[in-house]
Amino acid sequence: MNGKLICPKCKWDFYFRKKLCCPGCGVRIVLISDKWPFPEKDFYTYDKRVGWRYVADIMEEMRDAMALLDSMHERALLKMETGKVQ
Ligand SMILES: [Zn+2]
Repeated sequence: MNGKLICPKCKWDFYFRKKLCCPGCGVRIVLISDKWPFPEKDFYTYDKRVGWRYVADIMEEMRDAMALLDSMHERALLKMETGKVQ
């Protein structure tokens, strides 16, 4: 994301983060545009649709996302299979 950010915690506004942290209070801030890997601990991220979002456990979120993909994939396969039967 380009432009000014406002820290969700201390409201410090800044253009550049220092090592994925707010220069004011040091809270972890990770943006989607950042390169992997994401930190293993909690952090704030910015979502254009909802604004600031707190991520307590990225691994948990990724597991959820993968589970969602899996179920979508399974449903798609099932659709293909039942399509063949008909
Ligand atoms: Zn801050």
